[in-house]
This record gives sequence, C-alpha cells and structure tokens, in this order.
Amino acid sequence: MVVILKNNATDDQINGVISQLEKYGFQVNVSKGIQKTIIGAIGVKPDFDTRKIRILDGVSDVYRVTAPFKLASREFNEDNTVINIKGVEIGGDSVAIMAGPCSIESEDQIYRMAEIVAKSGAKILRGGAFKPRSSPYSFQGLGEEGLKYIKAAADEFGLLVITEVMQISQIETIYPYTDIFQVGARNMQNFALIKELGNVDKAIMLKRGLSATIEEWLMSAEYMLASGNKDIMLCERGIRTFETYTRNTFDLSAIPVVHKKSHLPVVADPSHATGIRDQVPPMARASIAAGADALMIEIHDDPANAFSDGPQALLPDTYLQLIEELKVIATAIGRKIN
Ligand code: PEP
Ligand code: MN
Repeated sequence: MVVILKNNATDDQINGVISQLEKYGFQVNVSKGIQKTIIGAIGVKPDFDTRKIRILDGVSDVYRVTAPFKLASREFNEDNTVINIKGVEIGGDSVAIMAGPCSIESEDQIYRMAEIVAKSGAKILRGGAFKPRSSPYSFQGLGEEGLKYIKAAADEFGLLVITEVMQISQIETIYPYTDIFQVGARNMQNFALIKELGNVDKAIMLKRGLSATIEEWLMSAEYMLASGNKDIMLCERGIRTFETYTRNTFDLSAIPVVHKKSHLPVVADPSHATGIRDQVPPMARASIAAGADALMIEIHDDPANAFSDGPQALLPDTYLQLIEELKVIATAIGRKIN
C-alpha cells in the first residue's frame, strides 16, 4: 500500500500515520521529498480496509498495490487453470461452446435444441430450469421437471449440462442433473450461495454481476476457491451502463484483464451482453479474438414464442453458420473450437 501525504502535512501528522501503520502490522518505508511525503506500507493483508488510513489527518491518497484476491490471482498460480469435465476442457487450447435455449420449455424443445448443439460440434448444453426473472409474473422455469428433460436430451447427444442455481436449497436438487452450476449475474454477490458452492465437487460458472467491478467479481471467485472448489470459470455477460441501444454493455476488455489478473478460464456470453439477436454474432467473433476460453450462446427455433430471452436467441441456421466463422477466427489465434 502506498500512502501519499498532503503537501502541508505536519511532522506530527506524518508520525501519526506511521505509528498507525505500524500498529496495523505494516513495515513502513518513508520517502520525504521537498513537497510530498510518501509512505510505502509493506505487508500482505488482502482484507485490509484502506479507509482506515485514508481518514487519518494529513493523508491525501492511499493506493493498494497488491490485489485483495489471492487464490484467484495470477501470482498464486502462474499457469492457466484448465477445467476438465468428463474429457471436455475449459481453459486449454480449445474454445468450448455452450449453447441452448434460455429456458427449458418442454421435453421436445430441449431435445430439438440439443440436436442442433450436437450438430455444431459443441459439447455443452445450456438451459435454465430455475429462472431469475426481473418480473415475478414472468415464466419462472420448469424446475426439476425441466432438469430431467435437459439431462435426458444431453445424454442422448453426448453433451454436458450447464444450468443455473439460484439458491442454496436448489443445489441438491440440481446436482444429479448438471455438470456445471451457473451462478447468475444477480447472484454474484450472494455470498451464502457461493460459499456453499465452494464445497461442491462440480465446476461452477460465475457470471459477472450487473454492476460489478472486475475486482468484485474475482473476490466472489475467491470465496469459492477459499472453500475448496478449484473448478471455477468466470463469465462476462455485459454490465449496466448509460447505453440503451443494447441490453447491457459488453465489456470485451474484461477478457484480457481477467487473463492478466487471474489464472481462471473466462467465458464470454454475447447473448446476455447485447440482448439483441443481430449483435450476438459480431460479439461472439470478437470474444474469440479477444481470447475467451468458452462461449455461451442462446438459441431457439421459434424465438418469437420463446418463454424468455427470445429477442437475443439465434436461429439454428445462424448459430451453425456462426460456429463455422468462429473456427476460422480461433485458428488465426492458434486455437480450436470445441
Ligand atoms: C441466463 O443465463 O439465462 C441468465 C439469466 O443470465 P444472467 O444471469 O447473465 O442474466
Ligand atoms: Mn437468458
């Protein structure tokens, strides 16, 4: 941590800051210039609240130089984490594709979608059975009945399943049907839920919160890593900004930023990030170019009548065409799709 003193800080104030830092267990290094005094406080304290120093008399600014997350950091683990789920890798040389409808709507619908997903060569089928809807009057998902349908469809076509868990009580219900638990954007800081998922022996995809900084997102991953689950992937799904022409603003740069800060795989979700069908393929292509380790794409064969997120669902043909384009982009950066 670096503490910058005000230009007019008195010796008493400077000494006061030094003794507080020492009291908190930091080793202190003082650099006195003609105008400014800067104090370097050395000591690894990831949970130290810098406001304790910021409020002291004579202090102008405080900067943290080490990140508050440890297990999620690139320093902790220099090599990329590669998650292997029944032979499907996420975070390795290949880019994994997760595709399927927003909601599981019926046995027949998820079966038809699974067929398309398998045809594209993708290995992971998505579909929500417990839906975090903005309105209590919207379709809330088929629950366990839907989980049975998605598992059966995935098994039929040799696919893995990813589905969302919204609360602790659903973990046990979902467990036998899924390979990856999805934590939705609205639950990224549901610490009770994510702590519990840290004890689960299945992979977790943690979506970025609607208004979460990258650091807050990584801190949520840290919770699960600290509880013992190492198979954590992060999913950029767009953040809330002042822009209204898209549903969310896709933070493409989060992909290289997370790769630099963390060893965890990054999934891009251009469907929720844009919310508009014709914006999904360009952002999917950009995600691969930016280094995403996996993509999550929503598809539907009758989007006008979809139970949720129809406007962002790709039609099967558009989706199949997109996958072919993604293969070319992946090759250009030395990767493969699937
Ligand atoms: C979803 O994946 O269907 C979903 C609800 O995502 P998010 O949490 O990113 O809104
Ligand atoms: Mn959706």
